[in-house]
Amino acid sequence: MNLTNFRFETDADGVALATWDMPGRSMNVVTPEVMDELNQIVDAVVADAAIKGCVITSGKDTFSGGADLTMLQGLGVEHARLSRERGEEEAMRFFFEESRRLTLLYRKLETCGKPFAAAVHGTCLGGAFELALACHHRVLSDDDKTRVGLPEIKVGLFPGAGGTQRVARLMQTGDALQMLFKGEQIRPLMARNMGLAHAVAPRAEIVAKASEWIKAGGSAVAPWDQPKFKAPSGKVYSPAGMMTWPPANAIYRRETHDNYPAAKAILHAVYEGLQLPMDLALKVESRYFAKILRSPEAAAMIRTLFLSMGELNKGARRPKGVGAVSLKKVGVVGAGFMGAGIAYVSANAGLEVVLVDQSAEAAEKGKAYAHKLVSDQIMKGRAKTADRDALLSRITATSDYAALAGCDLVVEAVFEDPKVKAEVIAKVEAVIGPDAIFASNTSTLPISGLAKASSRSAQFIGIHFFSPVEKMMLVEIIMGEATGERALAVALDYVRAIKKTPIVVNDARGFFANRCVGAYILEGHLMLAEGVPAAMIENAGRQAGMPVGPLSLNDEVGVDLALKIVKATKAQVGEAAVNPHQERLLTALVEGEGRLGRKNRKGFYDYPEQGSKKLWPGLRDLQETKVDPDSVDFSELKQRLLVTQALEAARTVGEGVVTDPREADVGSILGFGFAPFTGGALSYIDFMGAARFVELCRTLEAKHGARFAPPATLVAMAERGGTFYGEAAKKAA
Ligand code: NAD
Repeated sequence: MNLTNFRFETDADGVALATWDMPGRSMNVVTPEVMDELNQIVDAVVADAAIKGCVITSGKDTFSGGADLTMLQGLGVEHARLSRERGEEEAMRFFFEESRRLTLLYRKLETCGKPFAAAVHGTCLGGAFELALACHHRVLSDDDKTRVGLPEIKVGLFPGAGGTQRVARLMQTGDALQMLFKGEQIRPLMARNMGLAHAVAPRAEIVAKASEWIKAGGSAVAPWDQPKFKAPSGKVYSPAGMMTWPPANAIYRRETHDNYPAAKAILHAVYEGLQLPMDLALKVESRYFAKILRSPEAAAMIRTLFLSMGELNKGARRPKGVGAVSLKKVGVVGAGFMGAGIAYVSANAGLEVVLVDQSAEAAEKGKAYAHKLVSDQIMKGRAKTADRDALLSRITATSDYAALAGCDLVVEAVFEDPKVKAEVIAKVEAVIGPDAIFASNTSTLPISGLAKASSRSAQFIGIHFFSPVEKMMLVEIIMGEATGERALAVALDYVRAIKKTPIVVNDARGFFANRCVGAYILEGHLMLAEGVPAAMIENAGRQAGMPVGPLSLNDEVGVDLALKIVKATKAQVGEAAVNPHQERLLTALVEGEGRLGRKNRKGFYDYPEQGSKKLWPGLRDLQETKVDPDSVDFSELKQRLLVTQALEAARTVGEGVVTDPREADVGSILGFGFAPFTGGALSYIDFMGAARFVELCRTLEAKHGARFAPPATLVAMAERGGTFYGEAAKKAA
């Protein structure tokens, strides 16, 4: 055998051990070479009469993250080339055969006649878990790091190497569909209870347990290849099947609004596959997989949510000339809503935190939030009391600024008032060292303006968190005019340490995310003012792919805050910068009705103590005009809600606020949930084609006003036939 990615040895009892350990990589991934070698291993096990069976394990600290998605992307490129050169039929044949190589290999392993067992420690996901599922026996380590699952749906794909068929034959159909739809990572004991694994053992014993199973005569025939096999939920066409499938369709619709072709393909593959013997079922799955792999949704989601996000997390925007900075001590000034969250995520990452507020009590109150968050984790079994003690011991709550001495970075999250911020900047700079970086978490004040209060503006930067800090994965880093490269490097190293995803933007009103969110909320307000029923607006938002409707979102951030921003914009930029319909609506709600949002249980919705929120019936009386709901073009509502955000994102590019399309896309999905199936706000335009998007904007502009006017930079790009990604790549070259 010619192996570089596996070690292969056989013990005295005739049990082979294939140890997957790819050289030069921290994590094993399924590549064409890995497939070739696994194929050789199966052949060798079958050919050698002295070998009883084989255990597959990993030589690394973790099992494997699954298939190499860049390999799958490469298949798409090859398909396009063949289609051009030899026609679609031949291209599709190639694509189908190539995209099911893994399926056939796993099936060969499963039916080779000798037992295979997987001994899994650490992460075992996607194509790697499909390998484990094809093995006849699975032993998982009981380690805290061990997770199995099929997360393909999160990048617009679905498990196409037998996953949908094997999972659907291991558990009740409803449970299988839920697992495939959610793509969650499952802990070892849960996996065993779900029937996904046979045994859980201490890490040091998993290989021994797996080989004992082989020595004890473990069967080389998978349950579904036994003559009398019955699927756990019985036949599809049966009373039990009829209890499952109609609701499954409804749940699919409710959760996806038909925006995710991969989710629909899962339904098809399981429904059709369960009616067929395994080999045919796998072929059905492969057909859907080849189709989904070529879908624009998969291409967009793989690019943004896997490739770009990975690149940003690894420091794509980090200045090359600055050496890595290992942060030890971080200061947080302002222990309110945001500061308390920032202190928690920093301490949770192992950093020493000094949390300062105006009084010791206020600082302690902020620290108490960390106590609450870890206690919640303990209740859920995700943390131990000792973790809480250790985390809290890392947070010093105080009113004494002198305690900030020795901090590598200080983040301020005090009131949104330039005067208060200026005082804080001076007090902090008086105690921190010359190399320490000062960051502001302001959401509306320009960084360059705030930096004027600093005596060291090269070390002054914006680190903008989203609320709630402990849940939101995005952090916007804002470069002021004078911000230096070292400040950027430290900010990025900090964001990496707290395991969030950074985007780097230039200074401008609203930075990136809040501008796009503002456009979404504004559109909802204007639809309401036009007379569109509120329920229709909210449904249009969700059906367009947003996590919540624009009115609901406004309730979360505060209706009063929206009015405050409108007033501030009017005062600072001028009358023309605000929309009078929006101003009237917000003034009526806040000043006329005292409706501030979820915080006082009264906003666009009513929030009763008991039961779920309901749209406030009084909204009807605030509508300036009314329209007949039957005359409303619902698909146009959906379009407006996405186009307005994408347009705003395009403007940020035109203005040089965002300089890298990956950041706008990742930022839009992580920051405000922009319809993930599009790949993000700029991918939405790129996949539609800039020319078509501009045309759509013009149509909406004619009907709804100048806010839909495309910026000149976008029109020029459309005329050149360019794309955001294409042009960024050209610039970088
Ligand atoms: P908050 O009112 O909850 O907290 C502000 C805290 O700062 C209070 O505890 C206050 O006592 C403290 N403080 C005020 N002056 C101080 C001083 N001189 N020294 C020390 N502490 C002082 O406000 P928040 O919602 O946490 O917002 C804080 C900052 O974060 C603002 O700049 C805001 O724009 C920004 N921000 C807020 C959100 C959000 O969703 N709330 C999101 C992103 C950014």
